[in-house]
Amino acid sequence: MKTITENIQKIKNELPKHVTLVAVSKTKPIENIIEAYESGQRIFGENKVQEMVEKQEALPKDIQWHMIGHLQRNKVKYIASFVDLIHGVDSFKLLQEIDKQGKRNNRIISCLLQIFIAEEDTKFGLNQEELNQMLSDEAFQDLNNIKIVGLMGMATFTEDTNKIKREFTFLKDIYEQTREKYVNLEQLNLQTLSMGMSNDYPIAIECGSTMVRIGSHIFGIRNH
Ligand SMILES: *Cc1c(COP(=O)(O)O)cnc(C)c1O
Repeated sequence: MKTITENIQKIKNELPKHVTLVAVSKTKPIENIIEAYESGQRIFGENKVQEMVEKQEALPKDIQWHMIGHLQRNKVKYIASFVDLIHGVDSFKLLQEIDKQGKRNNRIISCLLQIFIAEEDTKFGLNQEELNQMLSDEAFQDLNNIKIVGLMGMATFTEDTNKIKREFTFLKDIYEQTREKYVNLEQLNLQTLSMGMSNDYPIAIECGSTMVRIGSHIFGIRNH
């Protein structure tokens, strides 16, 4: 088995310059994160609030923590003071709560809107119509403590690479359209397209990804 350091170096060598690596450390112990940190990695992704808070308290403060999981509204307050980017925003109510907590912490919290692109109905996200509704809503303009910096999506978990390619291309199209359509919206500044995980990140990059979220290819298979 390769070490975490070797895995990170290998992946970093493969990634084009414009693609950012989020090392997904969920379920993994502090020691694993320290090894990745010592090899130069600074961005880590977690999907549980409690776990992220504990790790944030224990680890160096120059780590950028990304919330990649489904975030419940009543838990936003626990991460609002430090979270660097929230990937999975999929409702206006959640966005309003993030805005409220951003205000309390006197900061603007960067968010990605999660778009539903897979065929399975187990995955969260907005469809294109819901996305447009949210961005056209007047109430959206009242939000002063959030910034939508991009979109995020997860493809179907399948061996069918053509299918994965279609789903990522679909997201890239929505990304470009949204960027053009809402160019005057102050709360929106799309620069990040978060797509691609261990099993599909090379395809995601081909399709225009600028941020990949990689867990098992760095830290090994998760036990749960
Ligand atoms: C767990 C997770 C990942 C990383 O998955 P791997 O297959 O281990 O690379 C990426 N994105 C999200 C949203 C996740 O929940």
